[in-house]
Amino acid sequence: MSSTRNVIIIGSGPAGYTAAVYAARANLAPLVFEGSVTAGGALMNTTEVENFPGFRDGIMGPALMDEMRAQAERFGAELVADDVTAVDLTGEVKVVTDGAGVEHRARAVILATGSGYRKLGVEGEDRLSGHGVSWCATCDGFFFRDQHIAVVGGGDSAVEEATFLSRFGSKVTLIHRRGELRASKIMQERAFADPKIDIAWNSAVETIHGDDKLTGLTLVDTVTGEKREMDATGLFIAVGHDPRSELLGGQVDLDENGYVLVDQPSTRTNLAGVFACGDLVDHHYRQAITAAGTGCAAALDAERFLAALD
Ligand code: FAD
Repeated sequence: MSSTRNVIIIGSGPAGYTAAVYAARANLAPLVFEGSVTAGGALMNTTEVENFPGFRDGIMGPALMDEMRAQAERFGAELVADDVTAVDLTGEVKVVTDGAGVEHRARAVILATGSGYRKLGVEGEDRLSGHGVSWCATCDGFFFRDQHIAVVGGGDSAVEEATFLSRFGSKVTLIHRRGELRASKIMQERAFADPKIDIAWNSAVETIHGDDKLTGLTLVDTVTGEKREMDATGLFIAVGHDPRSELLGGQVDLDENGYVLVDQPSTRTNLAGVFACGDLVDHHYRQAITAAGTGCAAALDAERFLAALD
């Protein structure tokens, strides 16, 4: 059986690596589970990041994550490219099981497993991700000035993204599979009043076209089955996201959508010694810098928790 560590961090996006930098510099020798296939988190799937402070010319997502990783390693964080497959967080000593079934123990655990954007699951989506297809208007809207932008979805996020994107695009088409939106009345009214926003009702995206850049979409009418082509150089998919909290159910308190509940402004969960940060908690801002910020807070909270135990 392994000895009991101070801190185990689960997750390797901006939240997990930032927590690792702070915990390592506080001499807590954190063990970080990065995930077996997705080490580095959501930014590994993007191209240019222009809004992370400190990089005036922007930086590629994977390069940014590489820097964060190396910074955590430099201060002594132990990084393991493996998944956590089970946790027992309820006792004083927390038990974290890795992909090989080995149990690791710690007095504090920081949860930073992020959340996944829901995909449409259509041809062209993965290939053109970062090349016209995006899941984040705040991140990428700026790249589509004076272009025709399509947004898929019908809830608050989709309508909010469409309204936000209309300040960049020459035109925004909101594609929705039903004949009415789910978004709140006030959001709908804002979108209806915006002369740049059109709504493609009863429409679903069937295919996303383009070799190395998005050129257009095939839409299918959800009522008649009729197909039509639409030119667009930007496509924002806003059909929801799922927090990666499946390991935590029954132990850590979650909200109705599966996000971890914390005692804000701290990162404390309902369990003593368990902290949570990044997009696993935050469904509001969902930015690399906010994830990094709460990762820092989680490490500071864990450090203070451990100091109080000693
Ligand atoms: P994530 O980055 O999602 O990292 C969590 C990671 O934890 C996972 O990827 C995985 O490696 C690991 N993990 C999960 N489960 C386990 C487990 N069981 N065991 C071990 N490890 C696990 N934000 C910006 O600020 N600017 C941008 O330009 C920008 N562009 C984006 C482009 C795209 C395509 C996407 C998808 C997002 C973009 N974002 C951008 C949003 C930003 O990436 C996220 O807000 C941020 O990455 C969230 O960080 P996080 O650390 O909470 O989670």
